[in-house]
This record gives sequence, structure tokens and C-alpha cells, in this order.
Amino acid sequence: MVDAVVVGAGPNGLAAAVTLARAGLSVEVVERNDTIGGGARTAELTLPGFLHDVCSAVHPMALQSEFFRLFRMEERIELRLPEVQYGHPLDGGRAGIAYQDLERTAAELGVDGPAFRNLMGPLARSADQVADFATDALLHVPRHPLTVLRFGLRALEQGSSAWNARFRQDAAPAMVSGVAAHSIQHMPSLSTAAAALSLGAYAHARGWPVPIGGSQSIVDALADDLVAHGGRIVTGHEVRSLGDLTPAKAVLFDTSVPGMLRIAGSQIPTPKRGALRRFRFGNAAAKVDFALSDPVPWTNEALRMAGTVHIGGTRAEIAAAEGSVAHGRHAERPYVLGSEPTVVDPTRAPGGKHVFWAYAHVPAGSDVDQTEAITRQIERFAPGFRDTILQSSSRTAAHMSDHNPNYVGGDIAAGAASFWQLVKRPVLSSDPWRMGAGMYLCSESSAPGPGVHGMAGWRAAKSALRHTFGLPDDVDLTPEG
Ligand SMILES: Cc1cc2nc3c(=O)[nH]c(=O)nc-3n(C[C@H](O)[C@H](O)[C@H](O)COP(=O)(O)OP(=O)(O)OC[C@H]3O[C@@H](n4cnc5c(N)ncnc54)[C@H](O)[C@@H]3O)c2cc1C
Repeated sequence: MVDAVVVGAGPNGLAAAVTLARAGLSVEVVERNDTIGGGARTAELTLPGFLHDVCSAVHPMALQSEFFRLFRMEERIELRLPEVQYGHPLDGGRAGIAYQDLERTAAELGVDGPAFRNLMGPLARSADQVADFATDALLHVPRHPLTVLRFGLRALEQGSSAWNARFRQDAAPAMVSGVAAHSIQHMPSLSTAAAALSLGAYAHARGWPVPIGGSQSIVDALADDLVAHGGRIVTGHEVRSLGDLTPAKAVLFDTSVPGMLRIAGSQIPTPKRGALRRFRFGNAAAKVDFALSDPVPWTNEALRMAGTVHIGGTRAEIAAAEGSVAHGRHAERPYVLGSEPTVVDPTRAPGGKHVFWAYAHVPAGSDVDQTEAITRQIERFAPGFRDTILQSSSRTAAHMSDHNPNYVGGDIAAGAASFWQLVKRPVLSSDPWRMGAGMYLCSESSAPGPGVHGMAGWRAAKSALRHTFGLPDDVDLTPEG
């Protein structure tokens, strides 16, 4: 018998386990894969010595997360900021460049600089308050109503047909849409606007860092802390029923909603079970990792300093590509999210070589290899890219769930990030993590949704501490705690 079992060793599962272990409980984590980390693993996917992030690569949400700030992640691993937080190439060698410094960003945007500054500035200055609101259940009384009002008004603008009203040229709106497209939804919409405003604000606040050594270092730091506080991690063990688990007072699921229902559906009260069955998955990502002989030869020099690059052209082109995917079609020129961590982290590749991480948005369940489509999109803005490729490794959307059953059909958010499904994720409640007696959902399928922030795990564990164990939930997470 243990106090708590966590099913799944992704960042949320480990954040939950650390929180419970720090409260003095006995905790066991059970992971189906042979390695821990879920969507935050790093592996040699191409050639020996080339370290690729299997899923997540860039970590603005980890820097802004209240959980990771209390855990003092920055003292445990090195999160390095590139000179350019994100870049957005346009034809003719032009680009929108987001520096951490908003004034510098606006200055380079020319006539649209003031409009971009007015859109992002108030949110960037209150980024911790934006994160506080955006990483809780949406059904709660906001602690910073003025920031929420500012955010809401801007989301109404950037989520509607008025989204171009403040801009005169193409770079600034393309930059906003490049960030908005992270949520894999048709645009403009409220959910894409919310992604653009929160992630966009974080770029000018704490920034968009990459961890030295790869995303694996984040989950390894969590696992080290868990083990140091008496927790146990079992790998290579897929949980199919509650009978597979050591008996426990609380079970926390770092799984998808259907994954949890398959294991413990009978323990969840009928009305909630009905609501959970209505939970929907969204469209998908198909990923390609490249080992490169040289850095990506972006025509625009500033892009060579970017940790993240949004590839898809103008706002209208990105909206059209995302619209195709929303209608179940492959875009001819897909939106591609790219990251070159070796711009700041030479440990990822031997002998001054480079790695490039990229994924394209595709319809759910697509089995189309996107290597050529992604290569063509990069070549459009970086002619000669093809000649730098030493090796590539591709994973179609249909095969995403081989690595992680939470990514049903290649949905990397483990549940569509549509506006309503962000409001009720996975159910409409001020405590959407609590499923039934001793049962909690702690994955990205619950609030606040996708990203390596640990917030779902932390909040689910706090709920378990209050409801199952009758303990205070203000656990000390500091390294010396
Ligand atoms: C290609 C890709 C790129 C991404 N890029 C970024 C990025 O740059 N920045 C960012 O912040 N986020 C990014 N994300 C999203 C991020 O990775 C996820 O939001 C995050 O990993 C979710 O954490 P989690 O703990 O909820 O679930 P996961 O990380 O998915 O972990 C769940 C774990 O549970 C295990 N599991 C599931 N079912 C069972 C079972 N029945 N028995 C035992 N174990 C089980 C899985 O194997 C897995 O290890 C990306 C995701 C993908 C796929």
C-alpha cells in the first residue's frame, strides 16, 4: 500500500508526484515507456551524438509557471535565452523578429511598431498575472481582474474579423498569427488569440528559453527531487486497469481522458463520466528532426539567432493553411514550427554541427510523411537548407501515439484546444482535476491544457492533498525544502 500512485511520468505526472512526496506522502509513479518524461524527452533520433527533443523543445511556459518558479527550476538546470525569442520569415529576405526587449522589437517593425507595442506591452508587463489566470481552471474568480480585462479585450480583437484593424503592413500581424497557430485551430478564433497573447507576452517578459542538454533535463530534475523525497518510479509498465496498480488512497492520471476512463471509468460518478465521454481530440502535428552539418542558412540574418521560427508566410497564408487542416485537408504549404536549439546549446550536436526540430500541422490521424513539405517550406526562406541535412527522422501524426498514447491521432495537446474545451477542460468545474473518490486527472487533458508547465499536475496534487488526505496544500517545493 502507498499513499498515492501516479499513472504516467510526463512533466505533469512528475509535478504531481513531487508535490505529494514533498507533503510527506509515499508516492509511486508508473510509466509505460522505458524512459521517463513523456512529452519532454530527449534522444538520439538521427545520428550518434545528435540530441533531439522528441516532443517539446522551447519552454516559455516552464519559465512562467508558478509551479516551476516555486520549484526554482532555474537553479536546478540551465534554461538559456536566445538573442531572438522567435522569428517569422517573409518573402524577399524580410522577417518579423521578436526580441525579449519589446521596444527593440517595435522599433524594427516600423509603422506597425506602436500597434504591436500597444497590443503586447500591457500584457508583457503583467506576464506573471497573465500566467496566473491562464494556468488555472478558467472557472474561477480572477485574482487580477484588470489584467484579465486587458487580455479579454485584446483576445476579442485578435480572435475576430477585426484582427487586422490595427496593422498596416504584413510583418507584425504575421508574427501574431505565427504564435497563435501553436493551438492548431482555425483562425481567427478566441483560442488562437489567447495563445498569441499569452505566449507572445511571455516572449517579452521572461522569454522563450531552451534547456541546455534538452527538455529531458526538466523532467530529470523533477525525477531527482521525487526520488530524494522517497518517491519511486517504475518504467516499462503500461497500466490497463486499477488492478495493475499498487493499492493507494489516491490515483492521479497523467493520461488522456479516454485513457483514464479505460482504467478507472467505473470509479467515476455517472454524470461526470458522461461529460468526459464528450471530450474531443483535435487536429495533429507530424514531426521531423534534422541533423545538420551547418546552421540553417536563413536569408534574413537575424533569424540565425532565433531559438524558434514560425514558418508559413503572411497572416493570410497561415490562416489558409490552418483552415485547410481544420477542414481535414493537408495544406499545400503547411504551417511549420521550427526550433534550432544549437543556436544557444552546442551540447546537442558534435563538432559544431546542428540539430533542427520541426513539425507541421496536419489533419488528425494523417499518415503522410511531412519531411519534403517541411524541407520545402524551410528552403523557401533558407535556400541551401537541403544541402546541410546529414540525416532526418520523421514521425507522422498517426504514429505519434506509438510513443505516447495520450497523443490520440497525433493531437499533441491530448484534446482539442478549442475555446470551449479550454473553458471546460475536461469538465466545467472550479476543480476540474477531481474525478471521483481518490481519482484525479493531472495531465494536459485537464486545465490549463498543453505545455510543459507542470501546472495541471501541481493543481491536481493540491486537490488530492485537500480532499483525499485532509492536508494543507501549500507544500514547500524549494531545493532546500
Ligand atoms: C511534437 C510536440 C512538440 C511540443 N512542443 C512543445 C514545446 O515546445 N513547448 C511546450 O511547452 N510544450 C510542447 N509540447 C506539449 C508538451 O509536450 C505537453 O503539453 C506536455 O508534455 C504534457 O505533459 P503531461 O505530463 O500532461 O503528458 P505527457 O508529457 O504526454 O506524459 C504522459 C505520460 O504518461 C504515460 N502514459 C500514458 N498512458 C499510460 C498508461 N496507461 N500507463 C503508463 N503510462 C502511461 C505516457 O507514456 C507519458 O510518458 C509539444 C508536444 C509535442 C508532441
